[in-house]
Parts: sequence; structure tokens; C-alpha cells
Amino acid sequence: MDDTIVGLATPAGEGAIHVIRLSGKQAQKILDVCFCPVHQDKWLSDTTFTLHLGNFYDGAMQLDQVLISRMKGPHSFTGEDVYEINCHGGLIPARRIIEACLRQGARLAEPGEFSKRAFLNGKMDLVQAEALIDLISSRTELSADLALLQLGGRLSSRINEVRQDILDILSYIEATIDFPEDEIDDLALKELSEKILNAKENSLEIFKGSKTGKIIREGLSTVIAGRPNVGKSSLLNALLHEERAIVTDIPGTTRDEIHEYIKIGEVLLHLTDTAGIRESDDPVEMIGIERAWKALSMADVILLLLDASEIRSGRLTNEEKTILEEYANKTIVLINKIDLLSSYEFKDTFLSPEVFALAFSVKNRIGFAELEKEILSRVFEGEISVTIDPLLSNIRQIQALENCIHSLEKALEAVYANVPFDLVSIDVRSALEEISLITGHQVQEELLNNIFSRFCIGK
Ligand code: GDP
Ligand code: ZN
Repeated sequence: MDDTIVGLATPAGEGAIHVIRLSGKQAQKILDVCFCPVHQDKWLSDTTFTLHLGNFYDGAMQLDQVLISRMKGPHSFTGEDVYEINCHGGLIPARRIIEACLRQGARLAEPGEFSKRAFLNGKMDLVQAEALIDLISSRTELSADLALLQLGGRLSSRINEVRQDILDILSYIEATIDFPEDEIDDLALKELSEKILNAKENSLEIFKGSKTGKIIREGLSTVIAGRPNVGKSSLLNALLHEERAIVTDIPGTTRDEIHEYIKIGEVLLHLTDTAGIRESDDPVEMIGIERAWKALSMADVILLLLDASEIRSGRLTNEEKTILEEYANKTIVLINKIDLLSSYEFKDTFLSPEVFALAFSVKNRIGFAELEKEILSRVFEGEISVTIDPLLSNIRQIQALENCIHSLEKALEAVYANVPFDLVSIDVRSALEEISLITGHQVQEELLNNIFSRFCIGK
């Protein structure tokens, strides 16, 4: 972290201005060489959070007229001296200015390196750093709102509270370990189990909304399934309001999966149109069908289309039965093409009561509003509000919390089974490791690089 880094903070292209970021110990010295301020006295006064107009030079050659903002460490984004150079928005001026900084001893920043420095200097934790990436890449207002809340630090403090709980458990165990065996009485056992239970409950509380959080962040993975020709591609097209998948009358046309994103309310749906699921000997079709099964197992929601005119008889294919049996709770059945029926007699269908089924017609646009309502109610089960308590949404963080809860459960079982305290502490310690991964209290360099490389350059 001794070197000074430079990077373009704005997207590479043409615009009104570009912003170049410079951070590190040498930043001021580099600018003293390259920058000729209009108000020399103001520049030399070394004040922070100030704006300076002037010309940027590479040696004797003027590169551009610039505005430089100065934010001195430690009260800056990275915690170091940070300068943001606003130049004219062409790629040539920006590139030349960066090259001039490099010549004066700066190094080109890696993706996310400014943010990584902010993390390493304690300006933000990993929950906040990952929220920052999410804020930049969010595609719905809701996911942006959630990211902004997480950035604010409230989620971090809830996690830190649990971490503190776990640290307290460890010191309690340390304190009792020195006692002779017979002095660890029932009271101590009770106290320890209560402490662990409390930490576990607080973790579960944070975990509670994470499924919704993940869907807000990543979108709802929605797979459209059904026998060939039932109307899957037509449904996808109708949802997209455009022709994207190939719609034909020949069964088995959609051999490759088609992925699209649509927004329902403020929820992003990641839609996959699968190959029609049926028994097949065609090797190409079989690959598609196998992929379709895989997609079904991974999906958050399955839209299973049944053909109204064909199922009047109440016969389901084996494939349809399998989906309804294995994935009943995440399947929404759309009984499509009801426009072909004169009466709605299938309403009292053979479908079991647990299965949610809608009378549907892609052609006559029947059932779309009900479908959207059902999807939204599944995402926001229990009306979790994202605006009061920021939900956990990042899969890495969710997994670490799950592991933490699991370790606390193991510790609790050990206490109940009268296992010696120093052995209990093994599970508590692994719970501590897991929770520390979330905020980054304890992380490997590799994980950090992995996280920050997902940022863009200049961030
Ligand atoms: P897929 O093989 O499941 O993707 O089915 P397609 O979307 O390619 O549709 C097969 C045929 O059914 C096409 O001719 C569609 O126009 C027709 N179709 C789709 N939805 C409806 C509907 O609600 N009513 C009627 N009558 N025909 C439909
Ligand atoms: Zn299709």
C-alpha cells in the first residue's frame, strides 16, 4: 500500500468530463510537478476538501485544463490522500493525464483497488464494500435501495453484535476452563447454553430475510417448463413484449435455453425458457431436456404450463407428475390455452390442493395479472420490509452466516451433552471464524482479491 495508484473513474468513452483518481503518499508530489494551479496560494495552503482550477502538464506540454478536488487522508474514501482530477471528457486528455501520473511514479490501479484500500484502512467493512458493487450494478430501484442501506452500515452493526456475542461466549469459556472440574456447576452450564442460544437466535434473526434479500439482489430465477407446444416460448415472448424466442408449431423447437430479464413490480425475474420436457431419443433434444431438469432444480420458481385442451382428460405425463411432486412448493401451474375451451370445467381439477394453478391464455392474455401477483407474494412472504432493517442479500455472506448458525447449534448440543467446555469452544471458535468472514474481520488475501476484482477500475 506504499505506492500511489491512479485510474480512470468514469466509463471509458466520450463525455462531458472524465474523472481520474489518484490515491497515495506520492499523490501531492505528483501533482506539484504536473499541475499548475490558477490560485497558487490556495493550492499551497494544503487545505482538504478543496477544489483547484489549473492546467495539467506533462513536462512542458499542456494536456488539459482541469479541476482537481483534494481530499486529504485519513478522512477520504481510501483513507489516504485522494485527488480527483476532472478533465475534459475525451479519451485522449484522460489517457495523457494518467500517463503523466505514471511517469511521475504512480502505478495503474487494479479493479477495485481504491475500495480495497478503503477496506484495508478500516473505512468500510466487506458488507459495505460488497454493497458498493451492488449499488453500482443494481438493475432495479429496490436492489439499489437495499445496497444503499447496507452501505450505511446498519447491517454491519447487527452482524458485529452477534460477533461480539460470540466473543463473549469464548471469554466466558476461557474464564471457566481454569476452574476445577467439580466447580463447573449446573449454573455455569445454564449460563453458557443461554449465551449460545442467544447468539444463535440473533444470527437467525439476521438470516430470516436473506432469501428475499438474495432475490432482490440477484433476481428471481424463474424457469418456464412444460411439454412441447404447450406455449412456453409464447409466454416468454408475451412477458417480454417482444419476439425473442422462436415460436413455431413444430414440437421440440426450443432446443437451447433462452435467458431473459424482466421486471415485475420492483423484482427482477431471470427467465429461462427450457426445451420442452418429454421422453426423447434425439440426442440433441436429450441434452436440452437434461439441461431443463437441471434448471428446474436450481429455480426459485417454476412456471409449469399445462395444455387446457389436452388435460381435460386429467392425464399428466410422467414428467409433469415429477415436477408437481418434487417441486410442488415452488411451482405455479398455468393451465394454458383456456381460450380453446368453452367452459372452465377444469377449475375443479385433478391437481392436488397444494398446487397453485391459474387458468391462463397467452393468446387472449388471461391470467397475467394473477400470475404477477402470485410471484410478488412469493418473493415478499411475510411482508419483510427492506427499508427498516437492511436484509442480508449476498450469497457469500449468507453462506457464512449459515455456517455460523450451524456451528453454534453444534456448540449448543455439546453443552447439553456435557462435553467439556474446552471442546465446546472448538465449535464456538469456528462460529467466530464464519461470522468474521462476513464483515472481513478475518479474511484471507485470496478472498479479498476475489471480491475487489469484481469492481471496475477506478472504483
Ligand atoms: P412451446 O413449444 O411450449 O414453446 O410452445 P410455443 O410457444 O412455441 O407455442 C406452440 C403453439 O401454441 C403456437 O402455435 C402458439 O401460437 C400456440 N399457443 C400458445 N399459447 C396459446 C394460447 O393461450 N392459446 C392458443 N389457442 N394457442 C396458444
Ligand atoms: Zn418453445
